[in-house]
Amino acid sequence: MKELICMVAMVIMSISSIKMNNEVIKESSIQQIENVELGTFFILKNDIKFIYREKDNESLNLVLEYLNNLPVKVKQGIKEIHFEDKKGDVAGVTKGTSIILYDFSAYDTSTQRHILYHEIGHTFANELGRLNKLDFDKYIEVAKKDKSYLSNYSKKKIKENNNYSEDFADAFSMYFRENDVLKRKHKNRYEYLNNLINGGA
Ligand SMILES: [Zn+2]
Repeated sequence: MKELICMVAMVIMSISSIKMNNEVIKESSIQQIENVELGTFFILKNDIKFIYREKDNESLNLVLEYLNNLPVKVKQGIKEIHFEDKKGDVAGVTKGTSIILYDFSAYDTSTQRHILYHEIGHTFANELGRLNKLDFDKYIEVAKKDKSYLSNYSKKKIKENNNYSEDFADAFSMYFRENDVLKRKHKNRYEYLNNLINGGA
């Protein structure tokens, strides 16, 4: 992200120098800043900005459909969803209110739902944190009580640096995909999440 901001700043600097002598160049450079790359589209739906290319059309429609199945409350922390090309074996990344999905169309539908809901789990946690409505120490305590792990990925993060944010995102995803399994096998996490999602707060 820092590099991107740097690059944008550099482009702006070069525009202000070009601006004085050549209007035409100025216009095409501005277009580059706004679109990041040419051929990038934006749409705004339910206050979420989607950034995609023509080839991402199908992925975009799937994401809109998966989003429709989630309650409004858990989507309030999402401001942007970007579609990008394959990046190693990373399927998605969340930074604050922004989600990046890499090579989304390459996955089967159940994995796609998991990837998207996992990332939304992060934006939901970020939003609750911002509103002081999430006691993460409490979540860790609850997750430990279950004496279980939700995926190899989140298990690794816990073992390596006691990081439970991936576990939270996995639990969130499971809540919407396999609600009964979460309830049966990871009861404490289920109750905690159920209260966050359906509780009065
Ligand atoms: Zn994650």
